[in-house]
Amino acid sequence: MAFDGERASSMVEELRGSFSTGKTRGYEWRAKQLKAIERMINEKEEDIVEALRSDLSKPHFESFLHEVSMAKSSCQFALKNLKQWMKPEKVSSSLSTYPSSASIVPEPFGVVLIISAWNYPFLLSLDPVIGAIAAGNTVVLKPSEISPATASLFTRILPDYVDTSCVRIVEGAVPETTALLEQRWDKIFYTGNGKVGRIVMAAAAKHLTPVVLELGGKSPVVVDSDIDLKVSTRRIVVGKWGSNNGQACIAPDYIITTKSFAAKLVDALKSTLEEFYGKDPLETEDLSRIVNSNHFTRLTNLLDDDKVSGKIVYGGNLDEKRLKIAPTLLLDVPENSRIMREEIFGPLLPIITVDKIEDSFALINSRTKPLAAYLFTKKKNLQKMFVETVSCGGMLINDTTLHLANPYLPFGGVGESGTGSYHGKFSFDAFSHKKSVLSRGFGGEVSARYPPYTPWKQNL
Ligand code: NAD
Repeated sequence: MAFDGERASSMVEELRGSFSTGKTRGYEWRAKQLKAIERMINEKEEDIVEALRSDLSKPHFESFLHEVSMAKSSCQFALKNLKQWMKPEKVSSSLSTYPSSASIVPEPFGVVLIISAWNYPFLLSLDPVIGAIAAGNTVVLKPSEISPATASLFTRILPDYVDTSCVRIVEGAVPETTALLEQRWDKIFYTGNGKVGRIVMAAAAKHLTPVVLELGGKSPVVVDSDIDLKVSTRRIVVGKWGSNNGQACIAPDYIITTKSFAAKLVDALKSTLEEFYGKDPLETEDLSRIVNSNHFTRLTNLLDDDKVSGKIVYGGNLDEKRLKIAPTLLLDVPENSRIMREEIFGPLLPIITVDKIEDSFALINSRTKPLAAYLFTKKKNLQKMFVETVSCGGMLINDTTLHLANPYLPFGGVGESGTGSYHGKFSFDAFSHKKSVLSRGFGGEVSARYPPYTPWKQNL
């Protein structure tokens, strides 16, 4: 039976019914679900890794490090801190409310929808679910149809662990997601591209539903010439190709360096790439494949653009049958080429050059705000200028992608790269309404506030 608007509506109604019993509000229910999810990750690790191999040929090590272990840490972190997060936060009272006590009480929104993307299909689905449950919501997860093995794994395993009267999974593509988006949700959390982000936001607007949009963009890496070249290139290469072969929202999208340093940087990148992936990277098992033929064609079209012909300085090899593209470096591509206008989301890395490294910051700010920005330099004043002037979701100095692994930092975009954030306590906050509570006794009457507004009161 097709999943249509009617089924979506009755699912939401059932979840609303479960929410209204109040069972998701208590600590016990939330902790029980989180413990069960942690157990699921432990018991099903092999199936998870296998699904990721099927969807993306994701290397075992990356599946473990970036998906299994991150999801587990997220669960453990929530369990460790949940009691504290759930506590009302006492705040000061003002003179105008004296005597009173004031607090901020986090309460669950109710029924939330999570729509996730294909590139980290396990983590990007489960991590927001962990946040939604920690905050005491009922939840529907819609994994990406582009990673079908992981999506169907969720359908198979999650119901054995969690309370299915409160947590549901809907597999499907545009029609199913459209049916879901027609419903009234209390919060929608979407991960994916900005075009669909706009569809999600428009659907949410009909019901005044708040949204978190975890989107993407072109994340730049600024490379100064005073760096430790070996360490820097290793960190750039692992952040780009060691992140799902560039199919990651915060993978370096392009490099900006100075004209005088570019050749040296290209040489160092080439030798690191060769050290990591060998002379024929199409044969290594340490790189994910491109997810499907649509994305393969999208990426090869970026290379077919006349504006970048002759600009490849390393790689460029393709294997269409196995959906493989070798790590590819391009030097001095024009800014109006497609590869510099669109998010790449794959193993191609263009390098553009400026006269002075400081010029990079204005260049980044002249474009839409990226999800991440990276700077490699030893100069403290340049680091300070970077932090103070470059606008982006999050930034990292002298490394790439690692900021995502710190649960004390909010993860999210700004402008075109998204709105809202999550991870650690920020996930709990993303799925909680912060309710203001002011409480008074019956003493402390101030007659001046009551009518009639006699002249002496007006002269106060
Ligand atoms: P995708 O194709 O899996 O789409 C994401 C979700 O949107 C899927 O669940 C899909 O079913 C749904 N969808 C697609 N078309 C739809 C439509 N017309 N109406 C309703 N729903 C629809 O993933 P994608 O968009 O290719 O993902 C890649 C993008 O996501 C990149 O831009 C990347 O930077 C971004 N991303 C961001 C993060 C983050 O955390 N900020 C993480 C991963 C990916």
